[in-house]
This record gives sequence, C-alpha cells and structure tokens, in this order.
Amino acid sequence: MTIKRVLVTGGAGFLGSHLCERLIQQGHDVICLDNFFTSQKSNVQHLLHYNNFELIRHDVTHPIWLEVDEIYNLACPAAPGHYQYNPIKTMKTSVMGAINTLGMAKRCNARILQASTSEVYGDPTVHPQPETYRGNVNPIGPRACYDEGKRAAETLCADYHRQHKLDVRVIRIFNTYGPRMHPFDGRVVSNFIIQALRNEDITIFGDGSQTRSFCYRDDLIEGMIRLMNYDGETKHLPVNIGNPNEFTIKQLAELTIRLTNSSSKLVYKPLPEDDPMQRQPDITRAKLLLDWEPTIFLEQGLQRTIEYFRAIDLSDFRAPTPNH
Ligand code: NAD
Ligand code: UDP
Repeated sequence: MTIKRVLVTGGAGFLGSHLCERLIQQGHDVICLDNFFTSQKSNVQHLLHYNNFELIRHDVTHPIWLEVDEIYNLACPAAPGHYQYNPIKTMKTSVMGAINTLGMAKRCNARILQASTSEVYGDPTVHPQPETYRGNVNPIGPRACYDEGKRAAETLCADYHRQHKLDVRVIRIFNTYGPRMHPFDGRVVSNFIIQALRNEDITIFGDGSQTRSFCYRDDLIEGMIRLMNYDGETKHLPVNIGNPNEFTIKQLAELTIRLTNSSSKLVYKPLPEDDPMQRQPDITRAKLLLDWEPTIFLEQGLQRTIEYFRAIDLSDFRAPTPNH
C-alpha cells in the first residue's frame, strides 16, 4: 500500500477523530486541522504520540499552505444547535472552507473528499432519498446556513471537477452517532442518552412521529474511506452513506429508556422550524460502487454510545464559545 500525506479538516471532531485513527492505523501520514469550535483536543490526545500524526489549530475559512496527497474536508459544525449558533460563520466555513481546500487540492494535485449531508435534501418529498433527488430546502430558513452552505460546497466540487478535472469525492452523510459525539451538541441521540442517564424528562420535539435513520460511526467511516479509494467512472458523483433502518423519534426515545433502565418520562416540545419529517437513505449506489452497507444495528450502536456517555466527565466539555 502507498503511504499518503492525508489532511483531515475538522479532524478533532466526532467523525474526524475516528477517521484520523483509522488513517494512522493504515500507516498514512495524517495532518489533523481544526479550530476546536465544536470539539476539544482530548478527542485526539491519544493520537499525539504517533510519529505519523500532526495537529494544527487553524480555521478553514483562511487559506493554508500544506503539501498533501489527499484531503478529507470535514470541518463544519454539524449539529443543528451548533450550526445555528453563528449561522453566518457556518456558511463561511462551508463555502470558504471548500474553496480553500479545493484550491489546495488543485495546487497539490491531490484527491479531495467533501463531507456533505442528507440536509441537501431538506424536508424531502421523495422517500427514501436517492442521490438523484434534488431536494426541498428552504433557502431562508434557520437550517439554510448549513443546508445551502453544503449545497454550495457540492457545487464547487462539481465545478472544480468539470473545470480543472480535479479528483473529487462527495459523501452525503445521514444521521451518524457513536462515542465521542459532543455531549452538549443537542443532537437527538446525545440528548436522549444524557437525559435518560440522569433520569430527566426526554424532550421530544413535535409528536415524535418524524423519522431518522441512524448510522453507527464505524460503518460511516468505513464507507467514507471506501469512497475516497474508489476509482470508477462515476467517482466524482455524490454517494449517500447511512443506515436505511428508519425509526421514529418516539421509538428512539423508548429504546434509549429501555437500554439505560431509566425512569425518564417523555415530554413534548414544539417542533423546530423546517425540521425534516422523514429521512432514509437510498444506499443502492454505495452498495453497487463501494460494496458497502452498514453492519451495526441501532440497539448495538446505542449500547456502545451509552457506555461512552456513562464513562465521560461532563465537566470536561463546553458548549461553543462566542468568539467563533
Ligand atoms: P463535529 O462538530 O464533531 O465535527 C466538526 C469539526 O469541525 C469540529 O472538530 C469543529 O471544531 C471543526 N470546525 C468547525 N468549524 C471549523 C472551521 N471554521 N475551521 C476548522 N475547523 C472547524 O461534527 P461531526 O458529526 O464529526 O461532522 C463532521 C462532518 O460530517 C461535518 O462536515 C458535518 O457537516 C458532516 N456530517 C455529519 C453528520 C452526522 O450525523 N454526524 C451528518 C451529515 C454530515
Ligand atoms: N429531537 C428531539 N428532541 C431532542 C433533539 C432532537 O425530538 O432533544 C428531534 C429533532 O426535532 C429532529 C430529530 O430529533 O426531528 C433529529 O434531530 P437532530 O438534531 O439529531 O438532527 P437532524 O437530523 O434534525 O439534523
């Protein structure tokens, strides 16, 4: 196997830190770049002693000069509470971050993978969502900073590919969970587990009939690496990676209560504006091109995530700071 110099932006985050681990294990020379907006150094502390790992504090909205063979562009707040915290910065991170990393890829003749999202489909009117579906996004709603930012990043990838023949990959990630999620990110899995472990009320937004399809992080990272390494004719086209097993939010709450032996009760809060009512990936393309499909069931993955949340000290974590 060829050893590559690999840049992972957002490498200290939930998914980025696992990706760094996998790439280090494979022997690659890994540069993790992060501004720690929604993460902390402790996520990569255990990697710092590796000779083939380097950590750079940097914001992707500013250019940086590095020599690399591959780039995974993951830098971007991902949880609705995080990306709506400073929506203008979220849009800048997606768009300017894509411009800066695509520019670096062009200069270095590197291959680049852009982390996109199921949010490009908005509140979908087609179910499940294939990559050919163009989506139903409100361009001026509270989720638009993220959805439209990610859509613009995809556009930039497509144009760098058309105009400069850049070797791009685009992964559309569906709700992914697992150990090292930020405990205060407000995402449904982390919220429910923490509430259940404290025997506090479980906050269901709306009536809990909206659906999501939850993918365990190891499955996701495997799909991401396979897509980066895939070299077929349609390699530049977006690929959905997610677990097609769909659950209502109420089912997730009940499962979390059962697995934690919690005495928490369900309480109902207003549904946030533009909250998608259903979401399930059509993974035909991933199966066909990458021979990939998820292997970890929700119950199994939730058990492991619950163990993680039981073990951490919540006082080690903080919410995003106002200076970003
Ligand atoms: P995360 O918040 O844990 O990780 C994002 C990382 O990017 C953090 O370490 C954060 O500090 C860093 N970051 C944010 N803005 C930055 C900036 N301007 N400069 C440098 N670093 C910056 O979230 P995650 O779940 O690991 O998401 C990783 C990527 O995957 C994101 O691009 C996200 O949009 C995408 N994604 C994730 C999911 C999911 O369910 N986890 C779903 C769809 C897409
Ligand atoms: N949700 C909820 N209670 C919470 C947090 C989230 O009912 O405490 C709902 C939210 O309204 C959405 C779903 O869970 O319908 C998934 O939310 P999340 O923030 O995890 O991610 P999204 O898929 O919406 O980006």
